Amino acid sequence: MFATLSDRLADTFKNLRGKGRLSEADIDATAREIRIALLEADVALPVVKEFVGAVKERARSEEVSGALNPAQQIIKIVHEELVTILGGETRRLRYAKSGPTVIMLAGLQGAGKTTLAAKLALWLKDQDKTPMLVAADLQRPNAVQQLQVNGDRVGVPVFAPEPGNGTGNPVEVARASIEEAKRRLHDVVIIDTAGRLGVDQTLMQQAADIRDAVQPDEVLFVVDAMIGQDAVTTAQAFLDGVGYDGVVLTKLDGDARGGAALSIRSITGKPVMFASSGEKMTDFDLFHPDRMASRILDMGDMLTLIEQAEKAFDSEQALKAAEKLGTKGGFTLEDFLQQMMQIRKLGSMTKIMGMLPGMGQFRDQLENFDEREIDRIQAIIQSMTPAERENPKIIDGSRRARIAKGSGRQVSDVNQLVDRFFEARKMMESMARGGGMPGMPGMPG
Ligand code: GDP
Repeated sequence: MFATLSDRLADTFKNLRGKGRLSEADIDATAREIRIALLEADVALPVVKEFVGAVKERARSEEVSGALNPAQQIIKIVHEELVTILGGETRRLRYAKSGPTVIMLAGLQGAGKTTLAAKLALWLKDQDKTPMLVAADLQRPNAVQQLQVNGDRVGVPVFAPEPGNGTGNPVEVARASIEEAKRRLHDVVIIDTAGRLGVDQTLMQQAADIRDAVQPDEVLFVVDAMIGQDAVTTAQAFLDGVGYDGVVLTKLDGDARGGAALSIRSITGKPVMFASSGEKMTDFDLFHPDRMASRILDMGDMLTLIEQAEKAFDSEQALKAAEKLGTKGGFTLEDFLQQMMQIRKLGSMTKIMGMLPGMGQFRDQLENFDEREIDRIQAIIQSMTPAERENPKIIDGSRRARIAKGSGRQVSDVNQLVDRFFEARKMMESMARGGGMPGMPGMPG
C-alpha cells in the first residue's frame, strides 16, 4: 500500500537533507517532485494541485525559514497535509441512542461488499456488540448464500428471505430485519444491498428506497481501492444517487499506489471510515488518517502494531516467558514455539515489519521474505517430543534424524534451528541479566 508514493517522497526528502537554508529553487524543485509523486500515485488532479499549493505556501513561510532544520520542517508539513487530505480526525461509527444501530452498505458488485459486511460484523463483535447481518442483495445469484457462508465464518447470524423466495422485495427484507433485530436484541444491523457491474439508475433507486425505509444511522459506500481514479468517479455517482456518510476502502492490500485513498475525501467530502486489506476476516480496521500518513512517510505505524499485539497476545503467557528468560536454561523450545505462534496471529511477517519505522528501504527484501520459512520452523519443533522441547540439550544425532524425518526437512535444517536457538537463548539470557551482548564488554552502570 502506498509503496510508490513512499519511495518517491523518500527520494525527494533525501535531496533536501543537510540543507541549512532552502532557496526558492529548492522549494520549487521539491514541490515539483511531490506533484509528480502524487500524480504517479494516481491522485486526482484537483487534489494534487491543492496539496502542492498548500505545501509550497507553507514552505515559503516563517514556519520553515525560521526552523532549525528546514528539511525536517518540510517533512512535517507534508505529513500534516497528508493527514488533512486523508480526512484529518479518525471518523468513528455513530451508534443509535436507542434501538439497534442500522448500518447500510452500498457499492458496485465485486467491490468486496459481502466480505466487508462479515469483517465489519466480526470487528463489532470484538467490541462486545451483537451484530446481525441482513441479505438484502436479492439480485445477484448466490449473494444470499455467500453472505450466509461469511456470516458462519465469523459466527454472526444472517437474516435472509426464505429460500426459493429469491424474487422477494429487498426493501421489505430490510424493513423486516429491523423488527427481527429488536426481537432478538441485536444492537447493530448490517444491511448488505445489491450491487451492479456499473452505476445504473435502478440500482441507485433501490438503494435509496431501502435507505428511506430503514433510516440507517450510517450509510457506508464500499469501494475497491484497486480501481484507482474510477473509485473516485463511482464514489461521486453514489453520492449523488444515494448519498452516504462514510467510505470503506477494500483491497488496499492490492493497491500499491493509493490514489483512491488520497483523493476520495477531498473530492466527495466524505471521510474514509474503514479500510479492508486482505482476504482474512481480520484484515480490517478503522481508517486512521494520521497513522496512514506516517506509514506513507515511512515513519512506521507503531500504534497499529501495538494495538494488534494487544489483541493477539496472551499477556500472561508473554510475562511467563519473559520471567523464564531471566533464569539460565529456563527458556525452552516450547516457549519459543508459543511465542512464534502468537506473533503469527498478528499477520504476515511482511505486514508486521512494514509497520516498523524506516522499513521502506528494505521493502524488496520484505516482499521476498518466504512466510513458509516460519511454517518449516514450526513443523520441526512440532516433530519434537515434549521432553526435547523442554530440554533441547538431549537432542542428539539420532533424535535429529528422527525429527528431520517427522517434519519432512533435512537433518541440517534441524541442526541449524537447534544451534540458532542456543545462540539466541545465550544472548537473551545475558541481556536479561543486564550484561549486554555476550562477547562484548559490558556497559558500565
Ligand atoms: P461484492 O460483490 O461486493 O459482495 O464482493 P465480494 O465480497 O464477493 O468480494 C469480491 C472479491 O474480492 C472476493 O473474491 C473477495 O475475496 C475479494 N476481496 C474482498 N475484500 C478484499 C480485500 O480487502 N483484499 C483482497 N485482496 N481481496 C478482497
